[in-house]
Amino acid sequence: AAKDAGRDRWHLHTLDLDEAVQAEAEMRAMLEQALNDDRLTLHYQPIVSSTGEVMGVEALIRLQHSEKGLLPPAAFFSALDHPRLARPVGRFVLETALRQGAIWQEAGLSLRISVNISTRHLLDARFLDDLREAMAKYPDMPPNQLEIEITESAPLSDMAGAQLQLRICNQLGVHVALDDFGTGNASLTYLQQLHAQSIKIDQGFVRDVINDPKDLAIVAAVITASRMLGIKVIAEGVETAEHATLLTKMGCSHLQGYYFSRPLSPEAIPAWVTHFHPTPQSEDALPPMDV
Ligand code: C2E
Ligand code: MG
Ligand code: MG
Ligand code: MG
Repeated sequence: AAKDAGRDRWHLHTLDLDEAVQAEAEMRAMLEQALNDDRLTLHYQPIVSSTGEVMGVEALIRLQHSEKGLLPPAAFFSALDHPRLARPVGRFVLETALRQGAIWQEAGLSLRISVNISTRHLLDARFLDDLREAMAKYPDMPPNQLEIEITESAPLSDMAGAQLQLRICNQLGVHVALDDFGTGNASLTYLQQLHAQSIKIDQGFVRDVINDPKDLAIVAAVITASRMLGIKVIAEGVETAEHATLLTKMGCSHLQGYYFSRPLSPEAIPAWVTHFHPTPQSEDALPPMDV
């Protein structure tokens, strides 16, 4: 009987595995199909400074599904890093974001656009060509208004390679941000090694800062060190006034989250920027750094 139970468990286990493999294959097929059918779009979420200016926007990918509507990356997350898809998706994102940035520039709206680039694409030998090609196509978009976000949660298989690529990005005038800081194993030395101009503190940390003194201590240390290194600190996932006030007091120069705005369609951005009337977060807010 014990043997039977064991066999059943094994049977169950392989079924789960099959299902996981199946789900991944479906995500991949869905993303690939959407790329081919032009059903990928970018939404943009404002990033504001603690002094109340709109610094820029983060481009966030969305997939238009025929039945399910507009899907967030969670619905196809693993596929974004697939060997066959990481580069085409990255090229789409760079091209679309720079085109949008150039349109806003021409309309007198100077916004920095942050794009998420998978480490697989970053480490691809053709990444810099892809970047230069997109930049050359939209000369109205100044290079220093583009920022590349590299997530810290994904282990970097080739640190030296990433360093080299990001250094060249800097030389092209493009900024680098270290995303999701606090979720992986990255140390503060990463900030310099990866030529980052900004660091984005992960929303998990931001959420817990209010209740957990240990998280508060970690975030405070990261902010202090970053400021000393001349690196801009952006808090992501800011959902309440309480969070915004506390993080600003702690020295975060920039904030992003639902408290200010959800990600918006590109058409909605100009009106949002025009109507954004910030309430000062804190009287003793530290001056924003111009990095
Ligand atoms: P991320 O780069 O850390 O982006 C921030 C995510 O947090 C976004 O989710 C955003 O909508 C969400 N967010 C913003 N403010 C709040 C808030 O106040 N509360 C909560 N709960 N969430 C907030 P989204 O758009 O679903 O994207 C998820 C992740 O997918 C991104 O995390 C990024 O890692 C990845 N991603 C998004 N766009 C792209 C892309 O174009 N290329 C690649 N490779 N990855 C992307
Ligand atoms: Mg990001
Ligand atoms: Mg993030
Ligand atoms: Mg995240």
